[in-house]
Amino acid sequence: MDSIDRQQNLSALNTLKRSQLLQSAANTAFDLIVIGGGITGAGIALDAATRGMKVLLLEKYDFAAGTSSKSTKLIHGGLRYLKQLEFGLVRTVGIERAVIHQLAPHLVTPVNMVLPIYKNGSLGKFSTSLALGIYDRLAKVKKEDRYYMINAQEMLSLEPQLNQHNLIGGAVYKEFRTDDARLTISVLKTAVAHGALCFNYAKVVAFQVEVEKICGVSVSDLNGGNSYQFKAANIINAAGPWVDEVRLLDETPTGKKLHLTKGVHLVVEKSNLPITHALYADILGDNRMVFIIPRGEIIYIGTTDTNYYDDKDNIQVTKQDMDYLLKAVNHIFPTVQLTAKSVVSAWAGLRPLIHETGKSPSELSRKDEIFISKKGLISIAGGKLTGYRKMAEKVVDIVAKRSAAPKKYAQSTTAKLPLSGADFNTDIERYIALRTGEAKQINVNGQTINYLVHTYGTGTEEIINTAFDLGNTIQNSELRILTAEIIYGIENEMVTNVSDFIIRRTGRLYFDIQQAKNIYKAVATILAERLSLDELTKKEQISFFETALVQVLPA
Ligand code: FAD
Repeated sequence: MDSIDRQQNLSALNTLKRSQLLQSAANTAFDLIVIGGGITGAGIALDAATRGMKVLLLEKYDFAAGTSSKSTKLIHGGLRYLKQLEFGLVRTVGIERAVIHQLAPHLVTPVNMVLPIYKNGSLGKFSTSLALGIYDRLAKVKKEDRYYMINAQEMLSLEPQLNQHNLIGGAVYKEFRTDDARLTISVLKTAVAHGALCFNYAKVVAFQVEVEKICGVSVSDLNGGNSYQFKAANIINAAGPWVDEVRLLDETPTGKKLHLTKGVHLVVEKSNLPITHALYADILGDNRMVFIIPRGEIIYIGTTDTNYYDDKDNIQVTKQDMDYLLKAVNHIFPTVQLTAKSVVSAWAGLRPLIHETGKSPSELSRKDEIFISKKGLISIAGGKLTGYRKMAEKVVDIVAKRSAAPKKYAQSTTAKLPLSGADFNTDIERYIALRTGEAKQINVNGQTINYLVHTYGTGTEEIINTAFDLGNTIQNSELRILTAEIIYGIENEMVTNVSDFIIRRTGRLYFDIQQAKNIYKAVATILAERLSLDELTKKEQISFFETALVQVLPA
């Protein structure tokens, strides 16, 4: 693909132009409106825009504020779905792993996943080997990346603190780790680079109907307080856990409905759980497994899977969730003994699954489904972060077929379209080394450059250039690069408040909570200055983020 001209196209995600762009969108006839700025909506916006459709995406909070910032952050085939004989799902998402890695190598990192095997565990040596063999085959894994089995001694040499009781061996296989919110924003930026318009804090509150067909939406701008009406030939509801709520704005949903299950992750410091590999291990006394994933200086542990009927806009991590996960980890690593005090951060998300009578949360299929209402609203739910591209292709195919001139819209090309920030023209390690060399002039070290590249990809260059320009006005180098990063977020990623920046654009609330605490007031000051916010708005942003800091710990 041609490299994306970031400067020219991404101005549509410039916070300072948001109001003006909303006005102009109100005067445009769109081919497609997408409701929901999680990974599903972002993927659809990208697929449709690259096929030549005029696309508008509307997100009620911030981009990725729903489930798409609360997952296990793995681009994976879902080994456990083999147990449920979901071969089709495993094949589709398994193959997608390599595709997405190719499209965004800075955001998708291969990891060796280690799976210990115990006598009387849920997986024996033979069944593990069989499952991983099928997994590799379905996902068309390259020879050098295929799984291998190891004995108990080798397993302990990888992770010496593992519970040795009844340990009979293990397996090592390849998975990919990502940052779900960054992946979502990167897909959105790519969509915008191909002409889509995307707005955060734009809540769809009603549908407009003409001759029994949905032809537009009424939107409440939660940032500016205005209301807008937008028109489109097609509307897709990709509202994740809120899909049924949005369907209700159209008609009382009939047929299949959503079944929400909650999944919790805990974050502990690496010094409290000194492991070096990502692990997928049995939970004692439960027919479930837990992921234990190292990332920088932290380890995150998840997930739970329980039915959820409470407030979708305020999902709590309870003491019960925490105790369940801590007990699981303390059994896997008996010398470690984590306590509530070890937990420095956490997140909880909702799986928007399709209800199947009589099935427990873990048994529910992760397959996606599409519903089309009498008035033409297309809703898509279920699925996985990993399968976003294929889901998008499937639903945009439907939109193309419904159009008056289906041939006008080409086939999906997203499998070969690198995501925004992935136009490196060299390998990442060399790219990081080059940028590190340049950044020495402004006192920025290799560790910071590594973080910037794995967060913004080639957007790093713009951040370094801005930091360079700020050299005369800001003496402190850390403040200078932070300011440059925030300016980049305002101009290219529609950052409107402290939480957008610290939680979704940079993941600091989860991956580096101490730094989040250290910088949030400075972030508020910089944002207030750059966005000309009054003192009251700045204080509100600070207090909103302080609430997030409290809620990030189990109640
Ligand atoms: P969301 O991300 O929730 O997006 C929907 C958006 O719609 C929200 O941002 C919401 O604010 C918006 N919205 C709602 N109503 C309106 C409205 N009226 N107007 C405008 N916008 C609206 N998948 C993987 O592949 N790998 C994993 O490791 C993985 N782990 C997971 C772990 C957990 C605990 C959970 C819960 C899920 C996990 N998944 C994983 C699944 C994956 O995260 C989800 O399938 C995916 O994120 C769903 O994305 P979405 O866009 O459909 O929903």
